[in-house]
Amino acid sequence: MERGESLFLEKIAVFLFAIWIAIIIALHIGVGYGNLQNPFYVLIICDFSLILILIFWRITNAVRFQQLKDLQRKYQKIELALTDRTQESHILSFTRRLIEKSSEGRAEGRGLKEILEDIAKEIEKFFPGDVVFMEVYSEEINFSFHFHSKPELEIPEILREEVIDKAQAKLINNLSSFPKYKDLAKNFSSLLAAPFVEKGKGIGILGVLTHELYEFTSRELELLSSITLHAGLIIENTELLEKTKYLSITDGLTQVFNRRHFQEKLQAEIQKAKEKHQPLSLIIGDIDNFKYYNDSQGHLAGDEVLKTIANILKKNTKGQDIVARFGGEEFVLILPRTDKKNAMKLAEDLREKVAEHVFPAEESMPQKDVTITFGVATYPEDGDTPEKILSIADQRLYKGKEQGKNQVVA
Ligand code: GH3
Ligand code: MG
Ligand code: MG
Repeated sequence: MERGESLFLEKIAVFLFAIWIAIIIALHIGVGYGNLQNPFYVLIICDFSLILILIFWRITNAVRFQQLKDLQRKYQKIELALTDRTQESHILSFTRRLIEKSSEGRAEGRGLKEILEDIAKEIEKFFPGDVVFMEVYSEEINFSFHFHSKPELEIPEILREEVIDKAQAKLINNLSSFPKYKDLAKNFSSLLAAPFVEKGKGIGILGVLTHELYEFTSRELELLSSITLHAGLIIENTELLEKTKYLSITDGLTQVFNRRHFQEKLQAEIQKAKEKHQPLSLIIGDIDNFKYYNDSQGHLAGDEVLKTIANILKKNTKGQDIVARFGGEEFVLILPRTDKKNAMKLAEDLREKVAEHVFPAEESMPQKDVTITFGVATYPEDGDTPEKILSIADQRLYKGKEQGKNQVVA
């Protein structure tokens, strides 16, 4: 019963009540004058009273019912608002945790990869029981990141195209109805995915998969998008820091480490070698007759040779080894956990690789070849300070130059 309707009935009831009072008064007057003996009037009064009571009962019931319904509606609204607030505060505290994690990570000198790993683990906790995957690609700092909470999970290329390339979020609750996702549908029923966006361009994907049908809501998609938005900013900041750091330790021409970073690393690595009682070797190389090449072929061609040799050195060393440009046409290599015998072997291998490489117009050189001479020194037998090791390696390099170049002296 509508509120207006019950008010109308209430008015009628009051009106009828007034009539009833009037009739009773009239009856009393009639009885008082003695001209009312017919019991018919008594019956009318009784019936009329009964009807009035019924109507009254119905109205008050309707009003109470209406009030109850109003209260229920209010309660539901408050409950919904409360769920919203709870979810919002969930999202807020989650994003706050993300930001805390990333600044903690940065303070501890952790790289983008470790920070993203932390973020992925936090997200995994947020969707317990579901499969979470996260991929980030950055051409700017030549970086890629993969996290799949189920290692064997295969993400179809079409999903990457749709989410990353188009920078679009996705909510699918019935994967089996989409033939293009048939491989995913073999194991999952619902999917949530949102892109990581940087400067308007998709650079990654964050997704959640579950076996249940119709599991996700648009609220959860909003949540995921809010996470990727915040994480995107964190990635952008970290990237900027990494880029600055990368530039500050890298030689602009050859893209190997610069002299300053080399010196810091040598100090640190010798310290480590001392603590762990392990050997460490240092190789220093100088291109033979490079002035001649520059003078005959020009500086730009000389630059290309420097880049190529830096690449040969980088390609033929291990991840633990540090390759740096020491100065003009001189390169240095720090080889942690490497004794003299193995350092000599590596230096000889690198010398051969440079000699074998065909450089443009190298036949114009005095020996018709671009070659390099190396000097090798090893901790602990040749010295126990960075200065001593470097000086011994340098002396050996000059010995190699004196003895005819294109050789390794250890
Ligand atoms: P050696 O065999 O004794 O080492 O002879 P060299 O000619 O290599 O040595 P020298 O020290 O006389 O000359 C080094 C040359 O390296 C001089 C300079 O033209 C060249 N060089 C140094 N830095 C750069 C650079 O950044 N780019 C180019 N293209 N050349 C450079
Ligand atoms: Mg030189
Ligand atoms: Mg030289």
